[in-house]
Amino acid sequence: MRKRILQFQREASKLEPGATERKKVRDQVVGYAESFLDQIESLPAYNVTKAKGKGILSSPVREKSIPLKKILKLLRDHVDHPGLNPASGGHLAYIPGGGIYYSALGDYLADIFNRYAGVFYAGPGAVRLENMLIRWMAKITGLPASTGGNLTTGGSLANLMGLVTARDAMKVNSKNVRRSVIYMTKQVHHSVDKAIRIAGLSECIVRHVPMDAQFRMDAEVLKKLLKADQKKKLNPFLVIASAGTTDTGSVDPLRTIGLIARKNKLWYHIDAAYGGFFILTRKGKKKLNGLGMADSLVIDPHKGMFLPYGLGVLLVRNVNHLRQSHYYQAQYLQDALIGAEEYSPADLSPELTKHFRGLRFWLPLQLIGLKPFRACLEEKLELAAYFHNELKKAGFEVGPTPELSVVTYRWVPEKGSADLFNKKLLEAVVKDGRIFISSTMIDGKYTLRFACLSFRTHLKQVDLLIDILKQKVRALER
Ligand SMILES: *Cc1c(COP(=O)(O)O)cnc(C)c1O
Repeated sequence: MRKRILQFQREASKLEPGATERKKVRDQVVGYAESFLDQIESLPAYNVTKAKGKGILSSPVREKSIPLKKILKLLRDHVDHPGLNPASGGHLAYIPGGGIYYSALGDYLADIFNRYAGVFYAGPGAVRLENMLIRWMAKITGLPASTGGNLTTGGSLANLMGLVTARDAMKVNSKNVRRSVIYMTKQVHHSVDKAIRIAGLSECIVRHVPMDAQFRMDAEVLKKLLKADQKKKLNPFLVIASAGTTDTGSVDPLRTIGLIARKNKLWYHIDAAYGGFFILTRKGKKKLNGLGMADSLVIDPHKGMFLPYGLGVLLVRNVNHLRQSHYYQAQYLQDALIGAEEYSPADLSPELTKHFRGLRFWLPLQLIGLKPFRACLEEKLELAAYFHNELKKAGFEVGPTPELSVVTYRWVPEKGSADLFNKKLLEAVVKDGRIFISSTMIDGKYTLRFACLSFRTHLKQVDLLIDILKQKVRALER
């Protein structure tokens, strides 16, 4: 028996490479990453390919291994080449993500040490680190000390947990769900609609509150809708505001809505996944006044703090509400309750075992401080204002002065369909590949979007986009 065990041990030993082997493999992997970073300025923001990454299927899971060189080539050709390059400063579409280098080092350490960040008893330091980040975000957004929260995988999960918490705190159940009313605009992110469905709130009455010309909730109409619903003996329980909509970067009147929510005892959920971290800027602080009135707030470090994908945050004004919806008891975990001085993430979210995702956030903040993040956010706001100005000068039809870092625009051709023209314009820009842009429908019109949030987007990329747009318009007009 011992012989057999030792035989398996030998076969499994590749799971634990020695120092020499580790260095060999690490050097190659780091070399691959370095060559990418060295070229990042000149790499396209989007690669249109025919195969769309299909080649990756040529290497299925097998008993035997293949050499690292071949593995990196597979990644280079079929994963890191086709489609969007989110690491590029030319990514000016949707809501750009981040990917700062120091976060990768945080992830590296998190993976090597594999600290258990789900339960205080197992990883007290890791849990303290994550909770400290949550307290910091509560502070900058203006939430009180009673706030608790969770580092999620993204804004969608955070929205879902926020709505589940609202549902439970406001006691919406099978008896009253059909009389219960949610207020929001049509500009809420689709993850909110998704969350309503997953949270079992599809049967609620959803009132889409009209918006002003800048796509911000009309708080006066909200008041009227509420009054009418109260008269009808319905159960208004939730109002959802956006602090930076995805389409146009609009910020709902957060303070006014907050006051209405308080007066009428509604749960106030704010989706600040995109816009929240602009609170660190001078202009953003004014625009986002009222953020701290939220009962639940979503904010995405993998957007506004330029971290790699995989980190959103939910903050809940009264941590007990979050806990009520997410705590657990399990006999096999009875030891874990001893001596807890902090809330455990496992008690405040659907997850038990989780990635120690706080480290990718904490390490860069410690290493370079908050100041560069603040400056980068200021730069993004200025770039959006600059782009808006320059396009207007160049004769484009532009949307309203950007509230944050999203600008909408389109070219109106002398003759023919503007929708078709702008569709073709977008196609031409994407095909060129140096800058990646996206579009949306505004008031039924096909509209181009400029969304500036990549930490690698600077004047150079914005000027390049302006040049490309002018050139493509000229070519299409001909
Ligand atoms: C991106 C975004 C979300 C969804 O967040 P993910 O991190 O992509 O899951 C929700 N709301 C708004 C306003 C967003 O911009």
